[in-house]
Amino acid sequence: MTVQRDVDLSRRNTLGVPARAEYWADITDRARIPELVDWARSRSLAVRVLGGGSNLVMAPRIHGLVLGMNLRGRERLENPNAVTERWRIQAGENWHELVRFSVEAGLSGLENLALIPGQVGAAPIQNIGAYGVELCDTLIAVEAFDTEEQQWVQFTNAQCRFAYRDSRFKREANRYIITSIDLDLSREFKPVLDYGPLQALKDRNDLSPSLVMDTVIAIRQSKLPDPADIPNAGSFFKNPLVSDPTYRQLKQRWPDLVAYPVGADWKLAAGWLIDRCGLKGRAHRSGVGCYEKQALVLVNPNRADGTSILEWQRHVQSTVKQTFGVRLEREPRLWNGG
Ligand code: FAD
Ligand code: NAP
Repeated sequence: MTVQRDVDLSRRNTLGVPARAEYWADITDRARIPELVDWARSRSLAVRVLGGGSNLVMAPRIHGLVLGMNLRGRERLENPNAVTERWRIQAGENWHELVRFSVEAGLSGLENLALIPGQVGAAPIQNIGAYGVELCDTLIAVEAFDTEEQQWVQFTNAQCRFAYRDSRFKREANRYIITSIDLDLSREFKPVLDYGPLQALKDRNDLSPSLVMDTVIAIRQSKLPDPADIPNAGSFFKNPLVSDPTYRQLKQRWPDLVAYPVGADWKLAAGWLIDRCGLKGRAHRSGVGCYEKQALVLVNPNRADGTSILEWQRHVQSTVKQTFGVRLEREPRLWNGG
């Protein structure tokens, strides 16, 4: 069992935050997980899993044991029916490579989720979503090690308690170490093209999962900063849900408010709220700021520390609250060190 001490994480988080792990171990074999959890527990150390580091704000010093997820492999399981293929994907696989692999295999279900950074094992944590599709639309099961009960567990889709950018894994933070997920992918193409930039595809006679994937990639590359060039963690805030009366009040005052119905409530576009507060392209003295092409993305060009990011977060939250009376919730997870 190789456990390293004092490992640099600054190149392992896409916000580029300077951070170090007290202890670190690479997971290349799932059988090692119980013994590593036991090792940490016997020393009263917290255990955390690191995937691609694209949805995290880290404190400078992360106490405890960080497990670098490196389980690889894609396995085809028995088909549940004539048009569906069931696949088991190991947690350390790259998400976007999986999307590309599925599309090249002629399978549909993941094409709208192209170019989301990070690993397969992290996808259930916030039920990743984009362009009208969420992971929960194709996920059948999750396998994980429960660090509290020290046993292997399997969850069905319903047991994952998926919601908008949410799941039981997010609520019970750091309890489960996800090792694989099972997905049902379809040989029948059922395009989801409701989002503005994809609507133009509806009239194409060459419509295919591959065309949707390529279109999503092109849109994302034109709007979002590549973390390799400008450190960021994607959308920094969730789109807030408000009641119908609140929405109506806001709409009266701000007629161009961008909002979408969700059941009886309304989802407000957080990027629009931030933009309307004049914060798009503006920055903290550390350089942390709201990206000039998409205000919802916080960028960290100077690789400032987590404290600067949280200061700017609070500034954005309080400005939006003062202007619209709406509270923005941070989307990336906080590793606060303890
Ligand atoms: P990490 O950042 O490494 O981890 C995030 C959290 O998950 C941490 O709490 C970690 O402990 C936990 N975790 C990671 N792996 C495991 C595991 N195997 N078992 C248990 N816990 C684990 N998100 C979207 O939903 N939609 C988008 O369209 C989207 N676009 C993005 C665009 C950009 C440019 C960036 C930088 C981010 C974007 N994100 C998006 C956010 C992010 O990519 C996703 O949330 C992604 O799933 C995070 O994966 P990761 O491997 O980097 O997770
Ligand atoms: P956009 O197309 O400019 O739209 C702004 C917001 O409006 C989005 O957040 C989206 O909500 C919502 N929206 C747009 N059309 C909608 C529709 N037809 N029905 C319901 N809601 C609609 O957004 P963007 O920033 O370029 O992102 C495009 C997609 O990629 C979005 O789905 C977004 O969530 C996803 N994305 C996520 C991250 C992340 O880190 N989480 C980063 C980049 C992009 P939703 O966000 O709820 O979809």
